[in-house]
Amino acid sequence: MKIKKSYQIKSGTALALFSGGLDSILAVRIIQKLGITIIPVCFSSPFFDCKKAKISSEILDLELQTYELGEEYLNIIKNPKYGYGKHLNPCIDCHAFMYRKLGEMMSAFKSDFLISGEVLGQRPKSQSITGLNTVAKHCGYKNIIVRPLCQKLLQDTKPIREGWINKDELYDIQGKSRKRQIELAKEFKITNYPSPAGGCLLTDEGYCKKLNDLIIYDMFSLKYIKFLNVGRHFRVSENTKFILGRKKIDNDKLQELITDDLFTIRAVNFPGPLGVINYNSKVNIEEVELCAKILLRYITKIKDRTKVRISIGNKQNRIIEEKKIEAGLEKNYLIN
Ligand code: SF4
Repeated sequence: MKIKKSYQIKSGTALALFSGGLDSILAVRIIQKLGITIIPVCFSSPFFDCKKAKISSEILDLELQTYELGEEYLNIIKNPKYGYGKHLNPCIDCHAFMYRKLGEMMSAFKSDFLISGEVLGQRPKSQSITGLNTVAKHCGYKNIIVRPLCQKLLQDTKPIREGWINKDELYDIQGKSRKRQIELAKEFKITNYPSPAGGCLLTDEGYCKKLNDLIIYDMFSLKYIKFLNVGRHFRVSENTKFILGRKKIDNDKLQELITDDLFTIRAVNFPGPLGVINYNSKVNIEEVELCAKILLRYITKIKDRTKVRISIGNKQNRIIEEKKIEAGLEKNYLIN
C-alpha cells in the first residue's frame, strides 16, 4: 500500500507556547495526534503566571517547562515596537519575544518546530493576519511556526511543506467565538479546562494606571513592580511614591517586600495600616509627612493629631522621626 508522504512522519518534537487555556490545550492535542512529541513551555512574569499552565499540563500528562521573564521583558513593555493594545499590553512584541525565547530553547530540547494556540481574528490587533505575520517575522522563527487551530488559513511553513505534519489534519478556526473550540474539546474528550477569563495584568485598566505611573516617574523596575499588586498607591510628588496597606493581608505582603532603601510609616498606638515610601536623596521630610497624613486619613478612629513613626526599612528601631501629625488632605493623590 502506498502511504501518503505526510503520514510517514510519525516522530519529531515541537515546543508549544503553552498558557494552559483551551486553545493551547487543543493545539497540543492536534499535533500530538499526528505522532509528534510535545513539550509545553510557559513563560511567567510579574504580569502573568503559569498556574493555569501547570494545571492543564497535568491534565494532559505532560511535563511543563516554565521560564521566568526578567528585566529584558520589561524593555518590551516600555518600548514596544508594534505598540500597545487597549492598555499596556504590547501583545505583538510580547508574543514575538516568547516565540524567540522558545526558538532559542529548540536545540536544548532537540525539537523541530514551534506551535501555539493562536486563532486568527480572536484578538483585533495581535491575532489579525498582519499581527500573526508580524509576530512570526519579528521573532526570527517564521519558517517553523505552526498554529494548528488556524494554520489552514495561513501560509504554509516548513513543517507542512516538508511533510512533517499533514495540513489536512489542522484547522481553519477564526474569530472570537469559542464554539468550534468547544466542539473540538468534546471530540478530544477534553472536559476539564480553565475558563478564558483573567490572565494578563497588562490588560487590566487599574493595574496599568499604576504601572504607567512607574514608567512616567522612572521607577519601572522589578523592584517597584512587585509592589503593584499590594495596597493603595499614591503619587505624592515627582520623587515620592507612597503605598498603603489597609488590610492585614496587604500589610503582611508589604512586610515581605520592604527593603532597607524604603521608608515605612506606622501610627504609634494604632494597629492598622502600614505605609511604604520610596526613598531617595530627593525625597524631603515634608513629602514624608504628607504620606503620614494620607495614612492617618485611612484610620477611621483617628480624629486628632496622632503620633506616627517613620523608620528606615522594616525595622522599627531605625526611626528617623516620631511626630504628631494631623490627618486629612485637600488633594487626592490616589493613583489606584
Ligand atoms: S495579553 Fe499579556 S501575555 Fe498575552 S500577549 Fe498580550 S501582553 Fe503578552
